[in-house]
Amino acid sequence: ALHRDKKPDWIRVTLPRDPKFWSTKGLITDLKLHTVCEEAQCPNRWECWSQGSATFMIAGDRCTRACGFCAVKTAKPFALEADEPQRVAEATKRMGLNHIVITAVARDDVKDGGAEHFARTIEAVREAVPTITIEILVPDFNGKDDALEVVMKAKPHIFNHNLETVERLTPLVRSRAMYHRSLHVLKRAKAMAAELGSKCATKSGLMLGLGETETELFQAMDDLLEHDVTVLTLGQYLRPSAQHLPVIEYIHPDTFENYKQIALKKGFRHVASAPLVRSSYHASDFKPELDVQ
Ligand code: SF4
Ligand code: SF4
Repeated sequence: ALHRDKKPDWIRVTLPRDPKFWSTKGLITDLKLHTVCEEAQCPNRWECWSQGSATFMIAGDRCTRACGFCAVKTAKPFALEADEPQRVAEATKRMGLNHIVITAVARDDVKDGGAEHFARTIEAVREAVPTITIEILVPDFNGKDDALEVVMKAKPHIFNHNLETVERLTPLVRSRAMYHRSLHVLKRAKAMAAELGSKCATKSGLMLGLGETETELFQAMDDLLEHDVTVLTLGQYLRPSAQHLPVIEYIHPDTFENYKQIALKKGFRHVASAPLVRSSYHASDFKPELDVQ
C-alpha cells in the first residue's frame, strides 16, 4: 500500500479547454439541475459530455443517508420538484445526449423512495429524445418491490445499482444499505423487466482500495453473476475529504486490467475496470449489447 495521502501519478485530472464544455456547464446551471459529473467533480466530465453522455442527479442534492465514501451532503431534503423531469428532458435535448444516466440521492423521507419521480423523468426524457438510451442508477428503495415496479414500468434500458464494496466492508462504507438486499434488488429488477416484456441489462459496480481482499472481490463478482448482473464497473476509491473514509490502497492500473480479464472469464458481458472508472463512465459503450439479456 502506498502512503494514503499521496495520489499516484495515474490519478490525474486535467481541466478542459474546449468552449463547448463551458457552455454545457452554463446550461446545467440555468436549468437548475444537478449532475454527478459536476457535484462529484468527476475527472471524466469533458470526455463523457463530448461523447454525448451525462449523469443527472434528480430529487435534490441532499441525501437522507450518510455513506462513508460519498461527497453528497446529508441533510433533510427539500420537497420533490414536479417540473424537474421536464427540465432534465430539456437539458438532454439541448446537450445532444445519446445516453443518459439518471440517478438520485436516497429519499428515505418519501414513501416510494422517489420511484415515481424516477419513472416520470425516464418518460419525459424518452419523449424528448426517443432514440436515447436510458440508464438509471438507483438507491435500494429499501428493498421495496412496489417502488421498484414503478421504476421498471417506465422501461429503462439499463438498471444500475452499485454494490460499492465487498460484503465485509458494507456496514462501514454504505450507511443503511445492505449487501444482500442490493443483490436482491438487482435480481428483482431483471426479473420484473422480463415479466413486463422489456429488455433491461443490469449493472453494478464496486470501488476498490477500501481495504477489500482479492478473495472478497472475487466473491462479490460471483454473487453479482448469481443475481443475473451482466455489466460490471470497478474503479479506484478516492477520498472526497478528510471526513470521509481513508484510501487504504491505490490499485495499480495493471491490476485493474487483470480484474477485468478475470471478471470477463467469470461471465460478465461488459466490464469497465480502471482507476478512474466511475459507475457511469463510458456508459454508452454498452449500448450495442443492450438487446442482450
Ligand atoms: Fe459524469 Fe459519470 Fe462521466 Fe463522470 S463518469 S463525467 S459522473 S457521466
Ligand atoms: Fe451518497 Fe447515495 Fe449514500 Fe446518499 S445513499 S450518501 S447519495 S451514496
